[in-house]
Amino acid sequence: MKISLRKIGKTPSDFEVESDKMTFKGYLEYHSGKLILLKGHLEGTLPCECYLCAKDFDLPVDEAIEFFISDGLYKDEDGSMIDIIEAVDGQVDLDELLRSEIELLKSGYNACEECSDSEDFEYIDDDDSIE
Ligand SMILES: [Zn+2]
Repeated sequence: MKISLRKIGKTPSDFEVESDKMTFKGYLEYHSGKLILLKGHLEGTLPCECYLCAKDFDLPVDEAIEFFISDGLYKDEDGSMIDIIEAVDGQVDLDELLRSEIELLKSGYNACEECSDSEDFEYIDDDDSIE
């Protein structure tokens, strides 16, 4: 599902895309300048491998997703570190976004239910606890 960014205005445009057992839905809304806000929700189950016991399991996914899409290259002039995806052809490909979100989830530290329930399990934050 591709959406032309120029068609997005102040009124939120709803979207919904699916892949296997995942649903990604939400809306796109014009923000300011060349920026479009995407607010969505990722829900479903993701087959993955436990990083502790290497067992295959289905990870339940329920995540809020929020970032900006820039129509064209984005210059971060004030140095604010907001999440921005650049759309070079004036379009946003929602199936592609869903695929990359799924890849991101798969590359994280996912523990199966038994391992998450075990007492010595400690949650590892994907981003900054590994040095
Ligand atoms: Zn496990």
